[in-house]
Amino acid sequence: MQFFPLPGLCALSAAASQHERFLALSDCLASNSVPALTVTSANYSSAIEPFNLRTPWYPSALAIPANAKQVSAAVKCATKYDLKVAALSGGHSYAAYGLGGANGSLVVDMKQFTKLEVDDASGIAKIGPGMRLGNIALGLYAKGERALPHGLCPGVGIGGHALHGGFGFASRMWGLTLDTIVSMEVVLANGSITEVTKSSNPDLFWALRGAGDSFGIVTEFRMQTVPAPSNGVLWNYTFPSATSIVSKIAILTAAQNFALTAPPEIGLRILFVISSVGLTADFQIYGSYWGSRDDFDSVIAPLLQEWPEDTVGVVANRDWLDALISFNNGGSLEEPADYNQHAVFYAKSIMTPDPITNASWSSFISYLYSPQATSEAPVEWLAEIDLYGGRHSKIASFSTEDAAYAARDTLWTFQLYSVSDLTGSVPYPKHGFAFVDKMSESITAPMPDTRFMAYPNYVDDAYTPEEAHRRYFGKQYQRLKEIKRKVDPKMRFWNPQAVGVGEGFWG
Ligand SMILES: Cc1cc2nc3c(=O)[nH]c(=O)nc-3n(C[C@H](O)[C@H](O)[C@H](O)COP(=O)(O)OP(=O)(O)OC[C@H]3O[C@@H](n4cnc5c(N)ncnc54)[C@H](O)[C@@H]3O)c2cc1C
Repeated sequence: MQFFPLPGLCALSAAASQHERFLALSDCLASNSVPALTVTSANYSSAIEPFNLRTPWYPSALAIPANAKQVSAAVKCATKYDLKVAALSGGHSYAAYGLGGANGSLVVDMKQFTKLEVDDASGIAKIGPGMRLGNIALGLYAKGERALPHGLCPGVGIGGHALHGGFGFASRMWGLTLDTIVSMEVVLANGSITEVTKSSNPDLFWALRGAGDSFGIVTEFRMQTVPAPSNGVLWNYTFPSATSIVSKIAILTAAQNFALTAPPEIGLRILFVISSVGLTADFQIYGSYWGSRDDFDSVIAPLLQEWPEDTVGVVANRDWLDALISFNNGGSLEEPADYNQHAVFYAKSIMTPDPITNASWSSFISYLYSPQATSEAPVEWLAEIDLYGGRHSKIASFSTEDAAYAARDTLWTFQLYSVSDLTGSVPYPKHGFAFVDKMSESITAPMPDTRFMAYPNYVDDAYTPEEAHRRYFGKQYQRLKEIKRKVDPKMRFWNPQAVGVGEGFWG
């Protein structure tokens, strides 16, 4: 028997009005000639599949505009029916924030924005946010052997990547992807199509580069490209005799000492991995050097002297594109228009400005190799520790006045990642969250005075909005909030961790 029928009735009438709102939204998009898929469209289900299938969301509609005017019309339709808006570019957000990060948003899918042009004189590229990194690298190289710093996976979209960081093995030499942005065309919450440069719109130019998803929809990037290096040296070292924790710490300590003053041409990653996807060693240190083999040999020599005699090195010369292919485990850089790759995973990032202490390395490695971790871990996991900083890193050369991206003083970025399945058929297990948290705590607990941050491109949906703001933006958050209040007071651009979420004055 139903004693309290009211909530049921309320829910029903809310659902009915929601349904009417979706129909009205669909009419609004159609009457403004904005191509769109709605929940009843045949392709809706496949179009809303995120890269990370752990976090599926169901938008009220998926606008698929072909130009900035249509993006503007879509945003105005969302305003008319009071819906949240999220831009979707490559769909690689770790919590599918490109699909809104919750049900019911209007998603603006930028896949038709595939412009790639390079001005020969200035080297400035116009890039549509619907482009993926692999296709951009191929396109830039074909246009006069130009290049940008960016991440290693060719399927990642430039839209989210460039607005929240953009790290790859050339970043210590050239900066993050966001550091290459010289101007943007952006649709704002009021629907205006706005040019954003450092001089014309300094607040937005600052805010978009680090917290872009909260401030507008970028419809075109202009980025300063550079000549691709004529040679890259790819290197990988493994340590057969380093079976004990003490011996691993000695190797890591030597690597860290090297990292602190490594030249900017060095990219360096420490990897711990348990995987079935073709990575051979459980502990390896690898990276790149953008220069000649002779120069690399002399740069790396002091580090090799510190490492065990039986260290196994594999070192090879590659040109720029072949280096990018190697980072992709030999896979093609070309991504199809109907890109359809997925995984089921959860990840956490830790950015530390301080060198990792012996106590922290010890606690981290002890946990990774403990029977407890073996029993708690999902099938596959990895801990990638990327060198962002060091005295000569370009990333650290930009001030926090320059862009909202906050963690300029990061030495290492840890990505603690665990995957239940690469096909999408195995749900992510509950104990997987605890495993990743324990990996994280094993590093942070022994360094209580360090101000650990998190990488905004590895969104961690386990954080409350407040913790996310603190970890992604630190002291930059106050200014971000003020700009948000001016340009998007109704929180049109929203996801669960967007700037302004959880603030009292926004309700
Ligand atoms: C397999 C894999 C490999 C990765 N490798 C790297 C790496 O090597 N280096 C690195 O730094 N990062 C890496 N990342 C992280 C990646 O950079 C981020 O997930 C990035 O935000 C993805 O961008 P996207 O456009 O593909 O994703 P989306 O899900 O489309 O977007 C991500 C966020 O950006 C917003 N957004 C997207 N487009 C726009 C736009 N045009 N205007 C305004 N907001 C927009 C979305 O609303 C969302 O909040 C990797 C991620 C994955 C899944």
